[in-house]
Amino acid sequence: MKDPKELTEQEWKEKLTEEQYRVLREKGTETPFSGKYYSEEREGIYYCGGCGQELFSSKTKYDSHCGWPSFYDLANTSNVEIKEDRSYGMVRTEVLCRRCGSHLGHLFPDGPKPTGQRYCINSAALAFKLSHPQE
Ligand code: FE
Repeated sequence: MKDPKELTEQEWKEKLTEEQYRVLREKGTETPFSGKYYSEEREGIYYCGGCGQELFSSKTKYDSHCGWPSFYDLANTSNVEIKEDRSYGMVRTEVLCRRCGSHLGHLFPDGPKPTGQRYCINSAALAFKLSHPQE
């Protein structure tokens, strides 16, 4: 497989749905409470919708009432990149997939214990796999 960092925007467009492209490649934000994983409570693993890299476990997912899937920790800290984002007149912390460079969401310091962090992630940026598909 080609290194996802070398994909052209045209290749990304062919690979992704319109909504995935808008979020992952154009740093868009899905409408709150609209995403397919916002209310997902089953046990499983969340992968990058762009390249399939593992990002979050359902074990750290919680209901933040903010309208987007929220996690208080990462599956593996080396799988994401954290960057300052000064778009839209705000200073926020952007969360990107380190493997493919796609935008995932933002990080806020108002999460629950033990980390106090809230990874606020677009459903459209994720792919979910159930741990126990038969249940
Ligand atoms: Fe990725």
